[in-house]
Amino acid sequence: MSNTPCELCTAETDVSTYEVPKVGQVAFENAVQICATCRQQIENQEALDPNHWRPLAGSIWSENPAVKVLAWRILKRLSSEHWATDLFDQLYMEDDLLAWAQAGHVDDASDASASSNTRDSNGVALLDGDSVTLIKDLDVKGANFTAKRGTLVKNISLTDDPALISGRVNGAQIFLKTCFLKKAT
Ligand SMILES: [Zn+2]
Repeated sequence: MSNTPCELCTAETDVSTYEVPKVGQVAFENAVQICATCRQQIENQEALDPNHWRPLAGSIWSENPAVKVLAWRILKRLSSEHWATDLFDQLYMEDDLLAWAQAGHVDDASDASASSNTRDSNGVALLDGDSVTLIKDLDVKGANFTAKRGTLVKNISLTDDPALISGRVNGAQIFLKTCFLKKAT
């Protein structure tokens, strides 16, 4: 018996069933057979390798709605690649399928500037890797020190909560409230 090929990239090794998480009232079939490489990149454990996704040129025509949803999200994340935007334009999505695809789409940090909800005390968007300064003294719970006003925190990381970022102060990785921060330039 031959292996089922990956429905996204056609690879025949390490193929297993992946269920695209349903959002709201999704009435579509959500199971798709994908390989381990596709799975890792879809689950954001690895950055997208554009060349891995070239076979989407064939798979976007799949009858499986889950394949189209995944292809839509991947092509959207690859929007800096011309071939990917061309394919994206060819990808026909019914309205309810499109809503499902959009609901699960996660921007990569590199192109998140337009959609970042994390803002400093002045309403300036903050991104992973930015530097910020503290605008007041902050007692750091659990670490037993006060982070002084004016402290520069480099290379911050965003969190799931737009009101919090994480960064390294006095050698400790801590969470900081964005309302007490100002983006450093
Ligand atoms: Zn694959």
